Amino acid sequence: MKCFNHPNSESVGICKNCNKGICHECLTELPNGIACTNSCVEEVTLVNQLIHKNTRSKNTAVGAYLRYALLYGLMGSAFILYEVLTKKVLGFTTIIGVLFLVGAFFHLFNAKKQKDRS
Ligand SMILES: [Zn+2]
Ligand SMILES: [Zn+2]
Repeated sequence: MKCFNHPNSESVGICKNCNKGICHECLTELPNGIACTNSCVEEVTLVNQLIHKNTRSKNTAVGAYLRYALLYGLMGSAFILYEVLTKKVLGFTTIIGVLFLVGAFFHLFNAKKQKDRS
């Protein structure tokens, strides 16, 4: 295949943005491929940044869900432990404890859902 811009030069790769064959003179190397120096570099760089930003915010969301799950789990366990230690079974505190544990599972589930979404 010949370079799109230089009919006399053999192309060495394909631009990530416009899928045209380009030669050494026309390409700019990027972390995940090559792009036409003149027309496509900015666009590909922008797309790369967007993808990067998305993965980062996704990880933060998963982290937040996991922190909530841990918090709820600890609260639930504390309430239930208190109930066990005071030997009152199925009192009001147990119900609150169970509700917290349900909340913990809910957040764990959300974290997993968020993680799988890609
Ligand atoms: Zn291009
Ligand atoms: Zn060229």
